Amino acid sequence: MAKRDYYEVLGVEKSADQEAIKKAYRKLAVKYHPDRNPGDKEAEDKFKEATEAYEVLSDEKKRPLYDQYGFAGVEGMDQGGGAQYSHAFHDFSDLFGGAGGGFSDIFDSIFGGGFSGGSSRSRGGPSSGSSLRYDLNIQFKDAVYGTTATIRFKHNEACEQCHGSGAAAGASKKTCPTCHGAGQVRQGNGFFTIQQTCPTCRGKGTSIDKPCAYCRGTGIQEKNKSMSLKIPAGTDNGKRIVISGQGDAGENGGPAGDLVIVIHVENHQYFERDGYDLYCAVPISMSQAVLGCEVTVTGLDGKKIDIKVPEGTQHGKLLRVRNEGVPYTNSSKKGDLYIQVQVEVPTKLNSKQKDLLKQFMEIENPKKEPGLISLSKLNQR
Ligand SMILES: [Zn+2]
Ligand SMILES: [Zn+2]
Repeated sequence: MAKRDYYEVLGVEKSADQEAIKKAYRKLAVKYHPDRNPGDKEAEDKFKEATEAYEVLSDEKKRPLYDQYGFAGVEGMDQGGGAQYSHAFHDFSDLFGGAGGGFSDIFDSIFGGGFSGGSSRSRGGPSSGSSLRYDLNIQFKDAVYGTTATIRFKHNEACEQCHGSGAAAGASKKTCPTCHGAGQVRQGNGFFTIQQTCPTCRGKGTSIDKPCAYCRGTGIQEKNKSMSLKIPAGTDNGKRIVISGQGDAGENGGPAGDLVIVIHVENHQYFERDGYDLYCAVPISMSQAVLGCEVTVTGLDGKKIDIKVPEGTQHGKLLRVRNEGVPYTNSSKKGDLYIQVQVEVPTKLNSKQKDLLKQFMEIENPKKEPGLISLSKLNQR
């Protein structure tokens, strides 16, 4: 496949400084990140293309080589197939750290190595397992008051039979005959020597003469897991709960990855949330608004709450009920409940009601030419 010029990929000038390169890449990475484009192969390819370009152009050693020799100048400089993004991944914290936190959330899955091919693999040495992402939907009320959820997922564990070695009982590990233990093979290619991951041992540097039959020599097995997870009161949409060590097992004694649970809170029929405050609306009649009244509403937790609607309450007015909002996580503090008053204009009046209102209107004598109100002023009420 023909490759596009790295500067063209990022849409920057050849003279662009590091700040411009970083900015251009951040824009593309956010747009094409696989988390945002699930199942979109084209977006994934664009993401990889941009990442590769950034990986080279942000590297003060590689960029001059690329400028002088093109792709051949930087080919094979990294080890392993998946490792070509590793450098860029390390820079994500730097790239997104100052951007208000939102972006770093999106890329958490990458830091943990959850993105396929993202985990760097050093030859034969220990490597960390991938972090796994689990999306958990919970009810609005459960998020506000807390609950316990059961989650079921699959992850890779060290093989029970060979304890992760990948070797059958009595088998021995020997140095890979192809690469003589280097994990890499070199191929002369004109001016440059291209280094590639060894195809025989896939970079491990060793091979096993008799692989474990249970895991076919991989040293890992997929296992179904189930665990109960405590969702604390006050949990909001998008919260991440990290359970360390419950991701995929590491290789060659490396640590296991994490299980990252991303909370998705479902919408409620009546209640909405802004931070720790709850919002809902209640309809009242015209006369109730005019004369004032007491109404009883049912709170999110089912509790009856009496509210006093003052005399002359306007349509859209927000009434605050203190401490009936969302409980703070690990605290006895609570947010407030805001109830918006919806004054309903009666549409079906009997003749007696009509007569009374006509009498009222005669006394009221409303202006035939009312002054205007600007919308922005109306919204401030
Ligand atoms: Zn095994
Ligand atoms: Zn080898």
